[in-house]
Amino acid sequence: MTDIQHHISDDLLDNYRAGSLPHAFSVVVAAHLSLCDECRARHEARDMIGGALLEGTEVAPLGTDARARIMAALDTPAPAPAPRGSGVFPAPVMAELGGRPPRWRMLGGGIRQQILSADRSGSLRLLYIPPGKAVPEHGHRGLELTLVLQGSFADSEGAFRRGDVETAHDDINHQPIAGPGEPCICLAATDAPLRFHAMLPSLLQPIFRI
Ligand code: ZN
Ligand code: ZN
Repeated sequence: MTDIQHHISDDLLDNYRAGSLPHAFSVVVAAHLSLCDECRARHEARDMIGGALLEGTEVAPLGTDARARIMAALDTPAPAPAPRGSGVFPAPVMAELGGRPPRWRMLGGGIRQQILSADRSGSLRLLYIPPGKAVPEHGHRGLELTLVLQGSFADSEGAFRRGDVETAHDDINHQPIAGPGEPCICLAATDAPLRFHAMLPSLLQPIFRI
C-alpha cells in the first residue's frame, strides 16, 4: 500500500518507453516506477496499447483477449514488480551509486549532494537536506524532476514524501524546505542549469554544478 500523491506524467512515461529521455530523467522515472504500483500499471498498460496513443490515432480494433488483458492491467497493479533495491535507495539509484553508499559533498547549510552523472543532456544528483533546511530559491531553464527517497519537503507546489515526484518546468520558481523528522534525501534530475535568485548560490553554481 502506497500513499504516493505526485506521479509521472503520461508524456514522460511514453518518452521513457521510447528511450528518448535523457539519462538523468530516465533514472528518476525508473526509480519512481520501482516505488509506485499505480504508475507501473499505467506504464505497462500503455506499453500494451503501443504507439497508437502517442500519435493520437485511432486504436485498431483489438481482439477480446487483448482488450481483457489491457483492462486487467489498468485495474490491478502489474504482476512483475521491478527490483526494489533495499532501504532508502531503489535499485535504479543503487545502480547509479555502483552499489556503494553515497559519498556526500557539503554544499553549506548542512545540505549535501552527490552528483551521479552530468553531461550535456543533463545532470543527476542526490541531495541531502536536514529537517527544516531550505534549498535556495530558484527557477528553471528546462525541466527538473525531483523524487523523494526519504523524509519530505514542501514548496509552493505542495508537500512531497517518499515516492512523490515533483515535475518543475521553467514557469515554476520554488524554495523546497525539508519537513520535520528524518533528513530529506531526494534524487534530482535537470536538463539545464538552475536559475538562482540570490547572489551567493549563483557564485557557487559553477563549483557545485547545480
Ligand atoms: Zn506514480
Ligand atoms: Zn527546482
